[in-house]
Amino acid sequence: MSIKNDKINEECGIFGGFCKQGNIAPYIKCGLLKLQHRGQEAAGVCCGDNKQNVVKNSGLVNFALDNSVLKNLEGNFGIGHVRYSTFGDDRKENIQPLKVTYMGEDVSLAHNGNVSQAKNIREKFERIGEVFLSSSDSEVILKRLIFSLKKKPSLWTFEEVAKCLEDNFSLGAYCILLYLPNRVMAFRDTFGYRPLMFANCSEGYFVASEDVAFYGLDVNEIIEIMPAQGIEITKDGYEIKTFSKDNNICQCVFEQIYFSSSASNIFSQNVYNTRIKLGEMLFKSEDNNFSADVAIPVMDSGLGCAIGYSQASKIPFHLGLVRNNWMERSFIQPKQEKRSLNVKQKFIPIKSVIQGKRVVLIDDSLVRGTTSKEIIKMLWQCGAKEVHMRSVSPKIVNTCIWGVDIPTKEELISYKKTDEQIAKQIGATSVKFLPQEALLDVFTGNVWCTKCFKEDENEIFLP
Ligand code: 5GP
Ligand code: MG
Repeated sequence: MSIKNDKINEECGIFGGFCKQGNIAPYIKCGLLKLQHRGQEAAGVCCGDNKQNVVKNSGLVNFALDNSVLKNLEGNFGIGHVRYSTFGDDRKENIQPLKVTYMGEDVSLAHNGNVSQAKNIREKFERIGEVFLSSSDSEVILKRLIFSLKKKPSLWTFEEVAKCLEDNFSLGAYCILLYLPNRVMAFRDTFGYRPLMFANCSEGYFVASEDVAFYGLDVNEIIEIMPAQGIEITKDGYEIKTFSKDNNICQCVFEQIYFSSSASNIFSQNVYNTRIKLGEMLFKSEDNNFSADVAIPVMDSGLGCAIGYSQASKIPFHLGLVRNNWMERSFIQPKQEKRSLNVKQKFIPIKSVIQGKRVVLIDDSLVRGTTSKEIIKMLWQCGAKEVHMRSVSPKIVNTCIWGVDIPTKEELISYKKTDEQIAKQIGATSVKFLPQEALLDVFTGNVWCTKCFKEDENEIFLP
């Protein structure tokens, strides 16, 4: 989670549901492990039957949810969460699921998204003397629900919760798991910025941010929870319900480009295939006379893109950079020096692939340009003859309030700059981005949020 411009951004992973036999905790841990790429700062699980118990800690899932602690967590119902890396506020209270007790009953919540109205709602509550234990917008959602419904959580209906979410957070991006006595509910906002999937398995009924989390289960059916839909899971079964007729679907293209696992199917498209297509399109947008000796991916999300680029161009694909999988993400370190150092430690060049070669380096996106700048430096040091930087994301020139951590416009490497100016700044021979029109050939239909590619698009009015 990060706090910037008074906005709280969360880009996380959620997993929960009901297990027919035995405790759900190990299933949640397994699911969260497969969603680890969505958040590496902290992880948490909340399970139980009538009394809910929470285990949450900083760090990766295997560390935060140690088996010795988890084995004491009983119950067939539960929810879990992995949290995106932090900037500023890493208090333990912010780790999810958030659990409260109201009228003698426990209720807990796990949230992926970003509710932009949370700040105002928080202030309104504070003016009437309400306190918050965390700085997370997710706690604001939970408090709002309690204030609106004012009855035991076991009596909350799906329709009441959905109405409260829509009345108060309709401009937000949210996928929410709510764990009430003997029930789990899930909700996806009407825009559908973030994905939400459901699996009916012989082991139970599970909801997750991405279908990759269901791998390994005995799955009968996987269903995408559509925007403005939710699901209610009890021990007797499940029901998917539509809670609003609003039809402003606006899915985040970065789920496909960057966030999600290559193995997932997000918004009905396989992520790996999408990245391959983006790479092919990227090469098709090159000048006719462009050539290079080797195409190198910036791992991990650049991998499929570089394969597609190499297949379309016939430029041989090589690893070129080994990614150190034991490193934290570099993107949201608070200080620039730390971000740069992190990139240097994350990638190790293979000199024999690079020396004397005209390299085309393919990444999913350039945001601040930290990653490309550091990698390009390494390539020159290894004796590259030319270094051409390519991005399958069009130029990112606007901020995002929906949970993608994009800094202020001025910090964006592409903001008000030509390709030549960007190349100079990151030390590349040339730089090119996939044109927006080409991107929209891959992301067909008018259901995508591409605001970050449009410099002048204003932020949606916040009440
Ligand atoms: P930069 O280093 O240019 O600031 O950021 C781009 C790099 O960070 C890419 O390699 C991308 O894979 C990675 N990245 C990490 N988190 C994010 C994110 O939230 N959004 C985008 N677009 N890229 C991210
Ligand atoms: Mg990357």
